[in-house]
Amino acid sequence: MASVRFENVTKMYGQKTAIKNLNFECKQGEFFSIVGPAGAGKSTILKMIAGIEPVTSGKIYFNDIVVNDLSPRERDVAMAFESYNLYSYFSVYENIAFPLRAPARKEKLSAQEERKRVTEVADFLGITRLLDRKPVQLSGGEKQRVSLARAMVRRCECFLLDEPIAHLDARLKFSTQTNLKRISAQLGTAIVYVTHDYREALGLSHRMAVLRTGEFEQVGTPQEIYNTPATDFVANFIGDPPCNLIDGEIFERDGQVFFRFGDDFTFRLEEKSIKSAEKIMTEATNGQIRLGIRANYITASRDEISNNSFQLPIYAIVRRPQRTILTFELESGFFRASLEGTQDYEMSQKVRIEFDQDHMFFFKKTIEISK
Ligand code: ADP
Repeated sequence: MASVRFENVTKMYGQKTAIKNLNFECKQGEFFSIVGPAGAGKSTILKMIAGIEPVTSGKIYFNDIVVNDLSPRERDVAMAFESYNLYSYFSVYENIAFPLRAPARKEKLSAQEERKRVTEVADFLGITRLLDRKPVQLSGGEKQRVSLARAMVRRCECFLLDEPIAHLDARLKFSTQTNLKRISAQLGTAIVYVTHDYREALGLSHRMAVLRTGEFEQVGTPQEIYNTPATDFVANFIGDPPCNLIDGEIFERDGQVFFRFGDDFTFRLEEKSIKSAEKIMTEATNGQIRLGIRANYITASRDEISNNSFQLPIYAIVRRPQRTILTFELESGFFRASLEGTQDYEMSQKVRIEFDQDHMFFFKKTIEISK
C-alpha cells in the first residue's frame, strides 16, 4: 500500500506547459479524483505517476520514496484507460489474467489461485459470462469493464483510473461505481481517478481536485467543492444546472448595501454577504463583482416572499422528475432557479425571487460566461 505525493511537479511538452508546479497527496486508502475539462492535464498527471511520461521538474513520491527514476514496471501501479487496450487475440479471461502472468511479478500464483482472482474481479464487475469471449465480441461498455478488471486484478500500490467508465450507459455506470467503491474500501489502495464528469467525482471520492490548464483551482472533499467553490471556474464546472454567475455591482444607499444587476433587479445585502464581498472588492473593481448562487438556493413564488425579493418574468420552464427549473433572462445572460416538486408556472409569468444569502458567493471574474 502506498500514498502518492507530488512536490512542485511541472510537465512541459516541448514549449507547452501541461502541468504547472503541482502539489498534492493521495493518501493510502484514499479515493482521490481529478476533474477538469478536456486538455486540462488530467491524463498527463496519471502518466507521470505511472512512469509513462517523465516529469520535467519536481518530485513524485510513493510513501517517502522518490520514484522519478523508476520504470513503470518498478512502480507497480495498475492503470485502466478510457481506451481499452485489450489484446484482441486473447480471451477476456486471458486479458484479465495477463498482469498476473507478467514475468517480472513478485507474486506468482498457481493456476487455481489465478482463476479465483480473475473470477472474483469478473464477478464484481458483472462480466463472468464474458470470460471465454474475444474482445471483438464485446460492446464498448463490456470492453471497458474488462479493462477495469484487468487493472484491478493485481494487488498493487496504487490504481490509476482514467475515465474508466465513460462509455457505460447510466445503469451500468451506477453499478460499476458501486463496485468501485466496494473494491477501494476492501483493498485500502490509493486510487487516483480521472474524469471530466464531476458527478462521478462527487459521488465516489474522499477528496477531489478541480484542474484547470495544469493547475488545481481547488482541492477538497466533495461537500467543500460543491458547497464552497473557491472560484467562479469551480462553481461553473461543478453542478447541474451550473452555478448561476451574475456580474453586477455593489453600492451603498442610506447606510445599507445593495447588489444591482443593471435595470433588472436590486436587493439588499446582509452583513455576511457584505463581509464576503469585501474580500473580493478592491479599488480597481470599482463596485463591480461576480455573484454566484446555485439554482436550488433561489426561491421563486407568485406571492411576495420578503421585503428583499424582486420580480422577473419566467423565460423558460424545464421539468425534471422531482424539480422544476425556471430560467430568467437578464440583459446579459440567464439565471436559473431549481424549485422542489412539479410547479405549474407558465412562461412569461412574473414571479417574486429571493436569493438565500447563506449560500451566495462572490468571485473574482476569471471565466467568460456565454449567454
Ligand atoms: P486531459 O487528460 O485533461 O484531457 P491531457 O493530459 O491529455 O489533458 O493534455 C494536457 C495538455 O497537454 C493538452 O493541451 C494536450 O494537448 C497536451 N499534450 C498531451 N499529451 C501530449 C503529447 N504527448 N505531446 C504534446 N502535447 C501533449
